[in-house]
Amino acid sequence: MLIKNGTVVTSQIVEKADIWIEGERIRAIEPNLHQHVNASPPIIDATDMLIFPGGVDPHTHMDLSQGDDADPHCYQTGTRAAAYGGTTTIIAHLPFEQQKNPLQYQVDRHRRLAHSEALVDYGFHGVVDHVDSNIIADLKTFPRQGITSVKFYMTYPVHLSDTSILPLLEHAKHLGILLCAHCENDAMIAYTEQKFKRRHRLQPRYQAALCPSICEAEAVYRLCSMARLVDDVPLYLVHISSRSGLNAWREARRGAPIVLETCPQYLTLDDDLYQTKNSNEPINEQALRYSACPPLRTLRDRDTLWQAIRCGEIATVATDHCPISFQEKRKGLYDVTRCPHGLPGIAARLPLLYTYGVIQRGMPLCRLVDLWSTNAAHCFGMYPTKGTIKKGCDADLVLFDPNQHWKMTADQLHEDLDYTPYEGITCIGKPIMTILRGSIIVDHATCVAKPGYGQYIHRGPSDFSRLNTGLYS
Ligand SMILES: [Zn+2]
Repeated sequence: MLIKNGTVVTSQIVEKADIWIEGERIRAIEPNLHQHVNASPPIIDATDMLIFPGGVDPHTHMDLSQGDDADPHCYQTGTRAAAYGGTTTIIAHLPFEQQKNPLQYQVDRHRRLAHSEALVDYGFHGVVDHVDSNIIADLKTFPRQGITSVKFYMTYPVHLSDTSILPLLEHAKHLGILLCAHCENDAMIAYTEQKFKRRHRLQPRYQAALCPSICEAEAVYRLCSMARLVDDVPLYLVHISSRSGLNAWREARRGAPIVLETCPQYLTLDDDLYQTKNSNEPINEQALRYSACPPLRTLRDRDTLWQAIRCGEIATVATDHCPISFQEKRKGLYDVTRCPHGLPGIAARLPLLYTYGVIQRGMPLCRLVDLWSTNAAHCFGMYPTKGTIKKGCDADLVLFDPNQHWKMTADQLHEDLDYTPYEGITCIGKPIMTILRGSIIVDHATCVAKPGYGQYIHRGPSDFSRLNTGLYS
C-alpha cells in the first residue's frame, strides 16, 4: 500500500512525504515515492491530510463488571470506537478479582475475551488491591507474559494503605514493573462525603466539592515521597486533574522518575457543568453526565494543565474510557455516590487534542503526537513497534482531515453508548481513515475490521529516558 501526498507528523518532524507499506510494516517514507515505486500497490491519496501515528491509549476500561459477568462483546465495542477515533493500540485495566482467585485469573479471562473480539492491538495493566506473598509471586510472572505495568488505587474500598504501598514499590522496582497509581486520599473523601450526607447534599451538582482537589494533592505528595524513599522507584500517575495535584508533584518528586498522565475531560470541560444549566435538563441530570473520578475541576485547573503540557510536565493524554451508559448513571440522580463514575471518550481524544490544543492554544503538531501516541509507547514498553512512523515499525496510522468542522455527538463517536460528555462540542479536524498493521480498519466512517484482528502486545520494560517533553511557548 502506498499513501501519497500526505503530511507525515511524528514527535520529531512534520514533512510532506509518501509512506510505503509492505505487509504489516512501514517500508519507506520519502517525498514523491509514488513516482518511483513501480509496483502496483493500492494507492491512497492523502492530499491535505495529516498523517499521525495510530493512537496509543494507555488508560482504558473495556469491562467494568468487576466480576465474571462481563459483556462478552466489551472488547469489540470498545476497540471499534477506538478505531473510529484513530487509536490503534489500547492498554486495558483489568477489573478487580473479587472471588480471591489469583491475579492470573483476570489476565487469562481478558486475554480470551480480547482474543476473539478486539479490533485494535491491546495489552493489559495488572491490578493489585492488597499485597502479600501470593500477589508478589504472581507479579513475578507478569513481565514474561508481556505485562510490565500494574495499577493500584489510593482510594475506593480496594485502596492500598501506605503499609502495603511501600513494599509494593520495592518489589515493582526489583521486578521491572511500572506502577500506575490513582492518587486520591480515601479518608479525606470519605470524611467529605459524610459531611455532605448530613447536609443532604449528595446530588450530582455537588460532585466537585465532594471530591476536592486537595485529596488528589495529598495523595500525590505522599506517594511521590514514598517513591523517593524507596530508591527513586519510577511511577506513572494516572489522570492528574488539578493545579494542586500538579504542584504537589512539582514539590515532592525532586527529579525522581515520576510521570504524569491527564485526560481530555480535564483539558476541555470544567466544573461549571455541575452548577450552571446549559441544557433543558434539570441541573442534577445535567451534572450526572459529567460524573467522573476525579471530578471536573475549575477553569483555572484546566489552564494549569495546559501550561503543564506546554512546559513538558505532562507526558500523556489518555482517556480513562469507561463504557457506562447514562441509563446506568441515573442510579446516582439523588445520591451521586451510588452510581458508577467515569466517562466514555475513547473515540474523542484526537479531535479534542487538535481543537483545544493545536487550534486554540497553538500546540505544535509534534507535541500532539507525544501526548497522543509516542510517550505512551515509551512508558509502556512498546516503542518503536508502536508510537511512531518510521521504517520497520508497525504500519499503524491515522489520516486526519484538519479542515473538517463538525459537532461531536454520541452517534458520531460510535462508542455504542447513549451519551457523550462532549455532546455538541464543535471540533476542528476529524480522523478519516485508520490503518492498523498495514490494513485499513476504518475508512470514511465505516469500520471494516473483523473482530479478532487486534493482537495481544507482549510489552517490554518501560523507558522514561526517551520521553519527549517538547517545550513550546
Ligand atoms: Zn481508570
